[in-house]
Amino acid sequence: MSRNAFPVVFDGHNDVLLRLGAPDGGGPDAFFERGEKGHLDFPRAREGGFGGGIFAVWIPSPKQQTPEPTPRGLPPALDAAYALRRSISDAARLFRIEDRSDGEFRVVHTAAELQKYLEDGVMAAVLHMEGADALDTDLDALHVLHRAGLRSLGLVWGRPNAFAEGVAVHFRRSPDTGPGLTEAGRKLVRACNGLRIAIDVSHLNERGFWDVAALTDAPLVASHSNAYALCPSTRNLTDPQLEAIAASDGMVGLNFAVNFLREDATRDSDTPLEVMVRHIDYLVERVGIDGVGFGSDFDGVLISREMGDVTGLPKLMSALRDRGYDDLALRKLAHENWLRVLRKTWAA
Ligand SMILES: [Zn+2]
Repeated sequence: MSRNAFPVVFDGHNDVLLRLGAPDGGGPDAFFERGEKGHLDFPRAREGGFGGGIFAVWIPSPKQQTPEPTPRGLPPALDAAYALRRSISDAARLFRIEDRSDGEFRVVHTAAELQKYLEDGVMAAVLHMEGADALDTDLDALHVLHRAGLRSLGLVWGRPNAFAEGVAVHFRRSPDTGPGLTEAGRKLVRACNGLRIAIDVSHLNERGFWDVAALTDAPLVASHSNAYALCPSTRNLTDPQLEAIAASDGMVGLNFAVNFLREDATRDSDTPLEVMVRHIDYLVERVGIDGVGFGSDFDGVLISREMGDVTGLPKLMSALRDRGYDDLALRKLAHENWLRVLRKTWAA
């Protein structure tokens, strides 16, 4: 139990490395200062009962790039050399945070480490790449990054790359927006299985999702996506996708972005916590109480004013308790499901 009497939260997705790396982001040192900007820093994480999470490396399109959208309206593919340089820089930021934390923040490589840090109150970080844009198709960079600590990989963000294509964000449209995995993408899935790197299906278009589902030997993980039935955004998961995730013993992390929660998909921060609870209810109904957790997308999206930032997590836990989730269910939602799925995926 954390100080606020709720089980400690392990969160499936945040973009704090991006925020800290921005020109006015303050770098790794700013993580240890309680800020007003953004959603996540060390002091606020402690206050909110955030015990750790999956920290994303995400690569913005270069500013000088002339936007020449692909036929499906997606931003163009990134240059791999640029993406690799940016990825190394973001990953280095995570390791510098670890180095400057006096042992209070650790990058985890195994589920045993993750469990121990959550129990000991050491903030636990999983290194994740949101999109394989930086990887060569020989997968040399994948092997090196795995040795450096990479334990989770999204094949795509919302753009095409050599391996797959991301889903374009649309409302009241099917997530079947483009082609599935390339041959290199299939090879990448098999390589991730071999290296025991978790494959994240959030941001994949529907054909890519089904290709991964057919190929992978690991539980299906959608780290930061919601229920399409409640908010018909292409970024959310349809009922058949939720059933496939359940059948694989996988999980879904609830995305806190108001435009992926609200039934009208508007970017309105005046969105009650009740809407998040409704998605949790629905995901639990479809995937089961062992297959749902959180994937906030802190520092990457617009979240509700009521949540505010990571210090709002106890409000969500409290709303879930009021809804009838008992202590065991709250532990599963807060961190036990993530721990179980990552243990099974990493096999260590
Ligand atoms: Zn994302």
